[in-house]
Amino acid sequence: MTEPSARLTPQTLQWTQALGLGPLFVRREVLREQQAQTVPEAAPEVIATPAAAKPVAQPPKPNRPVPPPRPASPIPITDAARLEAIACMDWDELQAGAQACRACKLGSSRHQAVFGSGSTQARWMIIGEAPGAEEDRQGQPFVGAAGQLLDAMLQAIGLDRSADDSERAVYITNVLKCRPPGNRNPEPEEVGQCAPWLERQAALLQPQLILALGRFAAHSLLGSQAPISQLRGQVHEFAGIPVIVSYHPAYLLRNPGDKARVWRDLCFARDLADAAAAKAAATRPD
Ligand code: SF4
Repeated sequence: MTEPSARLTPQTLQWTQALGLGPLFVRREVLREQQAQTVPEAAPEVIATPAAAKPVAQPPKPNRPVPPPRPASPIPITDAARLEAIACMDWDELQAGAQACRACKLGSSRHQAVFGSGSTQARWMIIGEAPGAEEDRQGQPFVGAAGQLLDAMLQAIGLDRSADDSERAVYITNVLKCRPPGNRNPEPEEVGQCAPWLERQAALLQPQLILALGRFAAHSLLGSQAPISQLRGQVHEFAGIPVIVSYHPAYLLRNPGDKARVWRDLCFARDLADAAAAKAAATRPD
């Protein structure tokens, strides 16, 4: 018995479909014959399936959040050009550059870069590890309980982070400008990318003394892995500036028994800064 579809000519098929007498199941040979009659052979791709049709730009789906464009970083993307640009910046350019920085992955998880605070006329530069959650929120280094303890430590040796005069002022910052998520330890790649900001801060400030607080700050500045107990009580150097190492205030909150050691470190630093100030005064032309 002959199959019904075999009796369909292409014309019959067109008529039945036009009359709504479908769907009809048609053998492939018949369908191909119909297509060959209705479509020019020179352009067979025109009758391809809809999936192969030329794509048309679709408007964005209304409920799909569109990420805001990232602010353009003023820092060139190549390492050499980046270093060169940072090394020439003034304070305002440096702060704006750090805020726009995306040189490591912390730039995409922070709320804001915590650049530093205090007087740019200060003789003391205090360097900690990295912003915590509260610093990330407020944009200031050393806030909260650890910040209050640092303020008390500074006041004990005649310094004040809110002072403007160079005698009492301090400048406070961190090795890393952006908060590591979950307060995890900074990674070497992050420290390396962030180092030019700190180096330029030190070059602009030209402090008489750097006080490195905590193991991580000491190791990053000095390139050493020695424990703090070994690094304390000595004068180290970073970019030609004397460095004294002591414990981080957050550590002291957990280990108040070490406050006496910190007091000795602060007195040591105070003596060193006073000697440097006296030497500078003696060599200053009248
Ligand atoms: S941590 Fe430093 S290098 Fe990384 S994005 Fe922040 S400012 Fe840039």
